[in-house]
Amino acid sequence: MTTETFESTQSREIISYDPATGEEIGRAALNGGAEVRSALARARAAQPAWGAISFRERTRVILQARKIVLAQLDEIGKLISRETGKPVAEAISMEIVPTLDLMHYFARHTSRLLQPQKIDIGQYGLMGRSSQVVYKPLGVVGIISPWNFPWATPLADVVMALMAGNAVVLKPSELTPLTALKIGELFKLAQLPEGLLEIVTGDGSTGAALTDAGLDKIMFTGSVATGKQVAAAAAKHLTPTVLELGGKDPMIVLADANLQSAARAAIWGAFCNAGQACASVERCYVHESIATQFIELVVKETRALKLDRATENEVDVGAMSNEKQLATVEEHIADAVKRGARVLTGGRRTRNLNGWFHEPTVVTQVDHSMELMRDETFGPVLPIMTFKTEDEAIKLANDSIYGLTASVWTNNIAHGRRLARKIDAGTVMVNEVVYTHAIAQTPWGGVKQSGYGRTHGRLGLLELVTPQHIHVNHLPFVPDVWWFRYSTGAELLFRGLARRFTSGSILQSSLLLPQMIKRSLERRD
Ligand code: NDP
Repeated sequence: MTTETFESTQSREIISYDPATGEEIGRAALNGGAEVRSALARARAAQPAWGAISFRERTRVILQARKIVLAQLDEIGKLISRETGKPVAEAISMEIVPTLDLMHYFARHTSRLLQPQKIDIGQYGLMGRSSQVVYKPLGVVGIISPWNFPWATPLADVVMALMAGNAVVLKPSELTPLTALKIGELFKLAQLPEGLLEIVTGDGSTGAALTDAGLDKIMFTGSVATGKQVAAAAAKHLTPTVLELGGKDPMIVLADANLQSAARAAIWGAFCNAGQACASVERCYVHESIATQFIELVVKETRALKLDRATENEVDVGAMSNEKQLATVEEHIADAVKRGARVLTGGRRTRNLNGWFHEPTVVTQVDHSMELMRDETFGPVLPIMTFKTEDEAIKLANDSIYGLTASVWTNNIAHGRRLARKIDAGTVMVNEVVYTHAIAQTPWGGVKQSGYGRTHGRLGLLELVTPQHIHVNHLPFVPDVWWFRYSTGAELLFRGLARRFTSGSILQSSLLLPQMIKRSLERRD
């Protein structure tokens, strides 16, 4: 069972299935190039008016949408859960709560975050000049999002792009079109003017059509392989792009860490969202002196988790989202076992349930020759490796093509901060895992093949605007000393500028005043 493409009598469709049962939940259009281009044209037509209105008016719409989310909290939670397989509790805690917070933050603070900024231009200021940067909307932003957080990932980008004055065309994953259509419904109810949020459901071909349609920016979240295709397509049009790609995020547990907390964090970090989070704990490195105790705790806590359909009570781990991802998990475990790894608990798909379930799995005796320690597994597996020295732990953590998030566990916070700086990752947490995507104020994004650009926070907002530098000469009646004609006196002055003005010292520059006055007078003739 995967999402299927369908030719019905009227139009082409995709079908969304419940991954926990295999039942069809609903259908959505499979939009082709023509529909994508029409959506872009509608967005382009609607954007200038939206870009021209005040932040206060945009805030009103976003806060109205937020109210509707709150009013429909249970319904939305159930829809996300049904389309992805995750427990409703997780749909609410990991998807809805963060976006409610983000909607509030960007509705209230975008105008401050994007206020024109005066730039200190040093001694040019003394010459009667001033500079400021103003932030203008980009136009139409294309958002392409994956299936693992079908609500939080696109909605955050939609809210930020709209608050910055842009229109949006959103292409959700073919596995989760209904959640995206719900986002569209929400903004319709909030009376967002027509055309400002266009949703083009479909498959990869719809995404490819969107990247080729002539957007002003692409916000892409997904796999490294598709990210590279998007970057290549964007290069054709020189469309600026933010790529939020995969991760193989390491967790380092030092000898002085709080073991109980570290063990609980490890299993939540590895098994929440059935391990299908870009920031999941995918590799755990624990100091050899505490390894036995830590592993015992991890195994005990893992065995206590309830794996079941999201509709059952008190489920911790739900279904995985699709067969392809489940097969990757099986492959990685099989490869690791073949190379000498030991499965301490879990290790299999669950056969007694109809959907795509995999047991939360803890694996030891792993090394970096194994796929499980190199490639993104994106499933409920926690491989644990020991280290002797911190240098070794850092080296292992950095031995990856990815660099999204990482964590260090220690009771010595200052030491944790120092180690954090040595790790190649967009975010490093000390005594925390996974969750900073939920903080609206902090930037999110990776290094190396985890992508480039940022979302969330002021850095993310700046991706959604064009900074424009406005420079003013307040003394237009005084000709610049560097203008034509280049006399011998001019050359002397320029040498003086090189020696004194560029030193940054006002005193040094003031010694050039007589030559500057002479130069001004020289050109009066
Ligand atoms: P994919 O790369 O397969 O898909 C991502 C999106 O791109 C989907 O909407 C997909 O459509 C679309 N797409 C597919 N082909 C193209 C194309 N040629 N041009 C444009 N768009 C295209 O990723 P997954 O959906 O499998 O998501 C899982 C990946 O996302 C993992 O690697 C995960 O780590 C990463 N991720 C990263 C996050 C981050 O913040 N860094 C957050 C969440 C996930 P369709 O699904 O219809 O094929």
